[in-house]
Amino acid sequence: TAQNLSTKMRACQIQEQGPIEVIQVRDVDVPQLAQGQVLVKVEYAGVNFIDTYFRGGIYKPQLPYILGTESAGTVAAVGPGVSEESHGFKVGDRVAAYTAGGSFAEYALAAADKVAKLPEGFSTKDAATVLTQGLTALTFVKEAHEVKPGQFILVQAAAGGLGLLLVQLAKALGATVIGTTSTAEKAEIAKKAGADHVILYGEGRDVVGEVYRVTGGEGIDRGVHGVFDGVGKDTFDMDFDLLRRKGTLVTLGNASGAVPPFAPLRLGAKNLKVCRPVLNQYVHTREEFQTYSTELFDLVQQGKLKLAVHGEYPLTTEGMRQTQIDITSRKTSGKLLVKVA
Ligand code: NDP
Repeated sequence: TAQNLSTKMRACQIQEQGPIEVIQVRDVDVPQLAQGQVLVKVEYAGVNFIDTYFRGGIYKPQLPYILGTESAGTVAAVGPGVSEESHGFKVGDRVAAYTAGGSFAEYALAAADKVAKLPEGFSTKDAATVLTQGLTALTFVKEAHEVKPGQFILVQAAAGGLGLLLVQLAKALGATVIGTTSTAEKAEIAKKAGADHVILYGEGRDVVGEVYRVTGGEGIDRGVHGVFDGVGKDTFDMDFDLLRRKGTLVTLGNASGAVPPFAPLRLGAKNLKVCRPVLNQYVHTREEFQTYSTELFDLVQQGKLKLAVHGEYPLTTEGMRQTQIDITSRKTSGKLLVKVA
């Protein structure tokens, strides 16, 4: 089943990996639907740090590759094996889609199992703002390190897109939340989102000392119970010092570069746990994806999770290059969106 479709579309495609200039918005064929897939007519797409890894080379997609891993819009067509009975949506419905790529385009393919129908009154703009980072924050505070009342939780880059959501969820779960940011301006933003303490990190700053002061002194039973770290290379070593005995390090991203290998023996000094989760493996089944998206949309609709949009960009070569210049320059806080239609 399909609406009347054009055969060509605008898309942000890379033909090789490299510097920002590899990003080009060009006319390409509208992708062909296969079994179990949905074609989404995109209204908004969400920008994520992962887009820079696919463009720059940390992750290796098959080329040519259309960037973008999440979109929201309407269902333009469904492939074989997808029906309202099996998946809960039909052509014309408003949906959000979590994809393996291809979202910065007028039409995007998605596995039907990773498409959620939007509740009444939930805008496609909010959906593109919250889907990936919201599902990440939600699954990670429940499954990567289960945040519990009374815990101290540290969120690195707390004013980032994901950071602001982690702060709010950890706080709502009853933790005392410590955030780190690079500037005082971002510290204010993290505080407004609910962080109890915000520490500026970077050259010459004593984050560890400050965390021990906040958590009550010295020794292996001080420090935080859990660290959520999307900064990666620059903060990984520090994370070991921030944690208390039996604490969990959730290393979840590479904003400053990939984390190098480390010796497991290092964990023994405080019996720490380290995990390196990826959202996709927490929302692997249709049921998992639907359950978590429903919970996420509820949190937003009930006003329990506030969304922060940093900026909106057009689907043009200049606009798309600017998304990656902005997110890697550390000047943004909150979500970057691409307005497609
Ligand atoms: P952000 O909006 O958080 O942007 C990244 C932030 O990282 C910057 O704003 C900056 O904050 C901080 N940072 C520290 N060092 C650097 C550096 N050298 N270069 C650039 N930024 C730096 O991005 P997202 O919210 O999209 O993503 C945050 C992290 O979460 C990323 O690492 C991303 O890959 C990861 N992620 C992982 C997922 C998973 O499944 N594992 C899913 C979704 C996101 P400041 O200036 O305050 O230091």
